[in-house]
Amino acid sequence: MRLHRSVSLSLALLLWSGPALAADKHQHSAAPAPQSLRHPSKGTPQPIGSYANGCVRGADALPADGQGFQVMNLSRHRNYGHPLLLAYLKALAGEVEREGLGILSVGDMSMPRGGRMPTGHASHQMGLDADIWFALDLGRLPVAEREREDFATMVDTKAQRVNTNFGPAQARLVRLAAAAPHVTRIFVNPAIKLALCEGETGDKSWLRKVRPWFGHAAHLHVRLDCPPDAKQCETQEPPPEGDGCGEELLSWFKPPPPSTGSAPPPKPPPPPPAACLALYAEKD
Ligand SMILES: [Zn+2]
Repeated sequence: MRLHRSVSLSLALLLWSGPALAADKHQHSAAPAPQSLRHPSKGTPQPIGSYANGCVRGADALPADGQGFQVMNLSRHRNYGHPLLLAYLKALAGEVEREGLGILSVGDMSMPRGGRMPTGHASHQMGLDADIWFALDLGRLPVAEREREDFATMVDTKAQRVNTNFGPAQARLVRLAAAAPHVTRIFVNPAIKLALCEGETGDKSWLRKVRPWFGHAAHLHVRLDCPPDAKQCETQEPPPEGDGCGEELLSWFKPPPPSTGSAPPPKPPPPPPAACLALYAEKD
């Protein structure tokens, strides 16, 4: 998921850094911020914590280029993940290529040891989340030309429906992305979920994993389940039963209730798990 940069978010992060350090002052006061780390930690790959507050031990980097895929915005160092995520993305890219859909452009995954990113995402913290751009026709770009976010949106926000950029290739991409059993959720804009629901004339059960969420108009966000051996990984409840094409989806298109004055300030994120602070403190 991506959040729009906002003053309130920056404020929340500012607020958060204080208590987080204070809480672990005795044990890990020297733990560096995860975004300052350039290398994964050693050891058996292990997601730790939760999607929105965690880290990852023993992550690998997805190479800048591979069969059927390219990694975007390499300067951000967000192309790290649990080996299962890398294997998943490579397999998906292979299928996309075999079906002649284009080239898979992979966006943010996690930082080398995971953790909370200073900008852009609330999740992506345990090496199990990845963004994939809907644009499949970019061709293989020189690395310098991948430093961009101006990819085609698939949604006409005023009409709250997909636009003409969203075609059969994009629908097929989501379908292929959802097919792996260890994918737990795929986040897309509500207008995209609606288009998928309307376009599926057969079995809609695969749409259960496809979850409507804010943004996600130019990319889909894939989330893998905790691996079975990951004892420190907090699993998320499975999505609600059913294909999610009914009432729940339609609720996204209703006008918001009238504002009742100023919104409360956002809650500061919780401090990172102690195991993550210890991981950040290991030699970079
Ligand atoms: Zn995302």
